[in-house]
Amino acid sequence: MRKKIVAGNWKMNLDYNEGLSLFSEVLNMVKDEATGSQEVVVCSPFIHLHSIAQLAKGSAKVSVGAQNAHQNESGAFTGEVSAKQIKSVGAAYVILGHSERRQYFGETNELLAKKTDTALANDLKPIFCIGETLQEREANTHFDVIKSQLVEGIFHLDASQFAKVVIAYEPVWAIGTGVTATAEQAQEIHAFIRKEIAAKYDQAVADATTILYGGSCNPKNAHELFAQGDIDGGLIGGASLKSRDFTDIVKAFN
Ligand code: PGA
Repeated sequence: MRKKIVAGNWKMNLDYNEGLSLFSEVLNMVKDEATGSQEVVVCSPFIHLHSIAQLAKGSAKVSVGAQNAHQNESGAFTGEVSAKQIKSVGAAYVILGHSERRQYFGETNELLAKKTDTALANDLKPIFCIGETLQEREANTHFDVIKSQLVEGIFHLDASQFAKVVIAYEPVWAIGTGVTATAEQAQEIHAFIRKEIAAKYDQAVADATTILYGGSCNPKNAHELFAQGDIDGGLIGGASLKSRDFTDIVKAFN
């Protein structure tokens, strides 16, 4: 059975102390909630990573991740953080290709393919984000957009590397807007993604891939979204900043 994941994406929120308090609360609250093959991941700003990774050490269900990593191994890239550095503080995951990185920092599929390789080479599991804009959906090009994000971003990996990647489908029009994709809309795309993986690799690889939904996921809609056959959890922005909401989303699997 593939892994179910609820991942929080704090984005550029919370100072150091606020982040530590929120993480401690989450850790306490989810330890009795995450069940079986379910994992909870908190993706914080870099400044929190080492401390929250230390706090998470005793927990088999909670891990931590970064929200970005550089494509190069090391060197003269002032202000950047490498995958090796992220790994060295105890993080297990890194979000790559979030639509905000694509939109505000010009990250392309080609660059993201390199970032994916570097993350994997340093034993970090990418949470690789894909998703269409509202214009692309209205122009009915959303399937093509998603397919090229997959093909150009991660389909160069061999099956054993691909097995370490978590995919997050995040329609850009649903991120931070309060407009969630309906469960049917999300399921349709998740099934499409799984079909493309099966065509590129094989059905066993497709069946083993965790595909998360992201975009205004909250305690009210999580249950219906997670009940869909191809939705294996969520990547949670706004609602991950409140321990009660985030924990309720974790519980939405039960
Ligand atoms: P949101 O963000 O839950 O606030 O819509 C999701 C994300 O950007 O990962």
